[in-house]
Amino acid sequence: MIRAIKALFKSKPKVVTRFAPSPTGYFHAGSYRTAVFSYIYAKQHEGKFILRIEDTDRARSKKEYEENIVESLQWLGIPYDEIHRQSDRTDIYREHLERLIAEDKAYVSKEEAKEGGEGERRTEVIRFRNPNKKVRFHDLIRGDIEFDTTELGDFVIAKSVTEPIFHFVVVLDDYLMGVTHVIRGEDHISNTPRQILIQEALNAPEPIYAHLPLVLAHDRSKLSKRHGAKPMTHYRDQGYIPSALLNYMCLLGWNPGTTEEIFDLAGLIKAFDLSKVQKGGGIFNEEKLRWVNKEHLKRLPRQEFAKKAREIVGSTDRAKDLKWDVSEEKIERLAPVLLDRIETYNDIKTMVESLDLDYFFGDPVYDAISLKWKTDSDLSGAEKHLGFIRTALKGLSDAKWNEASVKALVWPYAEAEGRGQVLWPFRFALSGKDKSPNPFTLAEILGKAETVKRLEAALTKCSLAAKPVETA
Ligand code: GLU
Repeated sequence: MIRAIKALFKSKPKVVTRFAPSPTGYFHAGSYRTAVFSYIYAKQHEGKFILRIEDTDRARSKKEYEENIVESLQWLGIPYDEIHRQSDRTDIYREHLERLIAEDKAYVSKEEAKEGGEGERRTEVIRFRNPNKKVRFHDLIRGDIEFDTTELGDFVIAKSVTEPIFHFVVVLDDYLMGVTHVIRGEDHISNTPRQILIQEALNAPEPIYAHLPLVLAHDRSKLSKRHGAKPMTHYRDQGYIPSALLNYMCLLGWNPGTTEEIFDLAGLIKAFDLSKVQKGGGIFNEEKLRWVNKEHLKRLPRQEFAKKAREIVGSTDRAKDLKWDVSEEKIERLAPVLLDRIETYNDIKTMVESLDLDYFFGDPVYDAISLKWKTDSDLSGAEKHLGFIRTALKGLSDAKWNEASVKALVWPYAEAEGRGQVLWPFRFALSGKDKSPNPFTLAEILGKAETVKRLEAALTKCSLAAKPVETA
């Protein structure tokens, strides 16, 4: 019994939102933000989130775009509770159009065809009988809005009973699907008065409206599919992660009123406030997105990051050609270095291509003379210091091997003997590069055996270089 009552309540959520894209282009940031706000609002109220594909414009709608929308939402982690396709609902629209006509709230009008050329062609459309009145509504973001609909005349709501157009199907579907909150782009604000008139004719309740400010390109023009906005799948392919995109999109036109900028989904559901969305457009700033992505990468469970990073490193030609041993364990130890240098997963590829990871997977390549600190006159200093470090580190057990314990052994010695004199050859012996992480970090990543091996190789180089060249 209790279960039945619960089920009854469950079947009628108090909040129902929808994302209603027309599949006339790839899913880009502008539409994504609308989807995100609608989704989060529904989640905040334990409501329902509907995906409705608005494909009544048959000439412009494409299956490919619909698939891109569905695929993007899936990748971005925005699950919908229901999906509807307007092209599957023609019979429903027909029934309601016929009802409006029967009630004389709409009528068939014979008109002259605009296009067509030769001779006079007559065509039929269905027009809405406009009561010509003032329409008022309250928008959660923009406040009270009033509009005199007289100037709209008897507007067209369908080309025929089987070809309804946009305004009619939006209103009817919102009604039939129980949508309580219409959250959509500001470009639809001028459609709202017309849609409210249709609602009244259908005896449908008026939903609550929230018209979101536009997402702007960096030149402040509207970000649109026609304006070259990139599809969201582009960001996936560029190595961004969904949680970062979700976070970044919420910051376009909203802020929590604190300096906190990094949120996961749960954090957004807690903090987001639709009524505090700004009225002005938000500029899509790829640099900021890169920063947010970096912050999210840093917060990923280390193993999850390492798994993906390993896949990327392992798939590069360089790793394959040089037969790098890209073990999970090594990548996990390398993770802090990667995370320090990258903003997207794809930056890992760039690091490999710029040979920045070579020395982690293969022997460093350098000339003995590079081991010499700039103020030393020969390699004797380097040889002495490397000898000390090798002996000290050999005494450190594998179990205690980490950045801090290595540092504890070497640092006091470097303080006494000169930091440059000691740490320069140490770092060079491990990386063969003048730019690399510090030697303590390197030692931890390489592990004891590899570190000692590289120190020994450097010592051999020193002694070979010191040997007088034998003459015949
Ligand atoms: N299908 C419309 C669009 O893609 C949205 C309609 C609405 O949200 O009311 O712009």
